[in-house]
Amino acid sequence: MLIADRVLRLSESATIAVGARANALKATGKDVIAFGMGEPDFVTPEPIRRAAIAGLEKGLTHYAPTPGDKASREAIANKLNRENHIACKPEHVSITAGAKHALYMTLQCLLDSGKGQEVILPTPAWLSYKPLIEIAGGRCVEVPSTVGTGYKITPKQLEAAITPNTTGVIINSPSNPCGVAYRTEEIEAFVQVLARHPHVTVIADEIYEKLLYPEIEPGLRHRSLASFPEIAERTITINGMSKAFAMTGWRVGYICAPGEGGRFAKELIKLQGQMTNGIATFIMPAIVEALTNGADDVERMRQVFARRARLIHERLSTIPRFRCVRPNAAFYSFPDIGECLGRTTPGGKRIETPGQFADALLDEALVAVVPGEDFGHCARSHVRFSFACADENIVRGIDRVAEWVARLT
Ligand code: PLP
Repeated sequence: MLIADRVLRLSESATIAVGARANALKATGKDVIAFGMGEPDFVTPEPIRRAAIAGLEKGLTHYAPTPGDKASREAIANKLNRENHIACKPEHVSITAGAKHALYMTLQCLLDSGKGQEVILPTPAWLSYKPLIEIAGGRCVEVPSTVGTGYKITPKQLEAAITPNTTGVIINSPSNPCGVAYRTEEIEAFVQVLARHPHVTVIADEIYEKLLYPEIEPGLRHRSLASFPEIAERTITINGMSKAFAMTGWRVGYICAPGEGGRFAKELIKLQGQMTNGIATFIMPAIVEALTNGADDVERMRQVFARRARLIHERLSTIPRFRCVRPNAAFYSFPDIGECLGRTTPGGKRIETPGQFADALLDEALVAVVPGEDFGHCARSHVRFSFACADENIVRGIDRVAEWVARLT
């Protein structure tokens, strides 16, 4: 059977692959400690669940308009105006099957195959961006950062990466996998660069905006790129319910593109209408509930993640062969494990890559982490720990890692 080259070229998500391997081991009764999956370990807050149940009971079982019903688009536009200072109307918003779907469609609407269009990606970056850019026909231009720079790129690096072929730039702050957010003044400096290049569309993935830890880095707060008038017309905001409201399994994301009277949003909704239509209709009241009344639950979960961010950093930074950046956002730590490569494990395996490191760590110490290779060229000596898990798992799991790493020869 024929299969298209562009699909054959796609790699499987390393996060999903690690999750599957860890689950398979767990199913055989092994005590696996998983730092793999990037999702809150909390259940969705009860009022949000109740709103969806009430929607079902009311008979919200038919198709809804493709971009979402009036009330949920209004709730999103109100939230973006009120909290993010993004001037937009409900018609500039479309609700999608997760933020990944929003990004997929955004890149499909932005890029054409064969035109040599480039999308700039500060790295390390979430491992789906590059495949999503490439499947839309674009070329991913990585702009690297390191532990030494705190996983931040500079405005100079951004400026140097921009060419006449640059069609878009993806800024993901707070970042998966780095666990860091840019400070407001750093975002402002990027805006100054971007303001000088009006041919560049800005894609701001703000899905972790609520998970910021000013108790770790005082003064840290979120500033949306689309709130800057200099670039607001050509900035597309991607966000969703998955991370802040512990709703990963619901598959609710959204895109907001107010520029040129919502022209981009209109075209994207056309694509969506031929692709998935709207999300499940009975979920829409749950979006309204979350965005209207969910702030206390978000804050409760945020405080727990802040505590775990401290805990995992304390533990990981005691491992002499790891180099870590202190997480100040999201729920990831992304140590550079370069010192462990080129060594032999207690079980006798030679490890040359993060993939081999992660495989051996899972087999021999029963700890699951995501190898860094797919997060960018500059991440080829890293692994990702998600600390969206119980404190006890962090303590036991990192102890196991420390002991195993100490025995590498
Ligand atoms: N953007 C980033 C940076 C992510 O880390 C993820 C999920 O891990 C997504 C987007 C996709 O989120 P969703 O589950 O809503 O599709």
